Amino acid sequence: CGIVGYLGNKEAAQILVEGLKKLEYRGYDSAGIAVYNGEEIQVVRKVGKLGELAQEIESKPPKGIVGIGHTRWATHGKPSTENAHPHCDCTGKFVVVHNGIIENYLSLKEKLIAEGHRFSSDTDTEVLAHLLEKFYDGNLVEAVKKVVAMIEGAYAFVAFTEHEPDRLVAVREDSPLIVGLGDGEYFVASDIPALLKHTNRVYILDDGEMADLTRDGVKLMTVTGEPIDKEVFTVDWDP
Ligand code: GLU
Repeated sequence: CGIVGYLGNKEAAQILVEGLKKLEYRGYDSAGIAVYNGEEIQVVRKVGKLGELAQEIESKPPKGIVGIGHTRWATHGKPSTENAHPHCDCTGKFVVVHNGIIENYLSLKEKLIAEGHRFSSDTDTEVLAHLLEKFYDGNLVEAVKKVVAMIEGAYAFVAFTEHEPDRLVAVREDSPLIVGLGDGEYFVASDIPALLKHTNRVYILDDGEMADLTRDGVKLMTVTGEPIDKEVFTVDWDP
């Protein structure tokens, strides 16, 4: 239900949880974050309020300067730790957070299972991580394009992989998503309040658009790869 992503030079875990707190008004039943610690992506998930996730993180803080976070409002699969986001194809090291619904997930899941993929949740979301693994050939943007071509529904998601830890790829189709431009740091979120502490310069993604966040900046394109030239929107309300 709420998405936050961070790529910068500060500790990501705290920024992600703070951002998720600003999205609490959207409602949720569980929450989680995934942070790359220089060697691997660490995932922490918790059913219940964000305070519980924050406590879990405090006891063993995932260290790292890039990551994604999510508050979940369950649509497919009961509220539980296994069904909380981020979801991964943990053998392939692909991690996603997702809002909305992948309508054709069941047929995709059956195919993936027949191909040897092993699922660990009842969500529609998890197919995204496994599809990324299936299609990845060294470039996360290319893999995301292939995944988007296969899925149906209303969604926003952010993809993250250990293979390219300095990159987040975000897609919007009928579910809100914005990109924040900071000073050497970049953000993704479902809504502006999650970012206002850090920046008031944002790109508001439209349906069928994709953002490629790297340490060199943010590139916007359509989900088929056509570059997009979009104006930066300056938010002039108080944080
Ligand atoms: N359909 C996904 C799930 O049930 C995402 C729900 C959401 O938007 O939070 O996990």
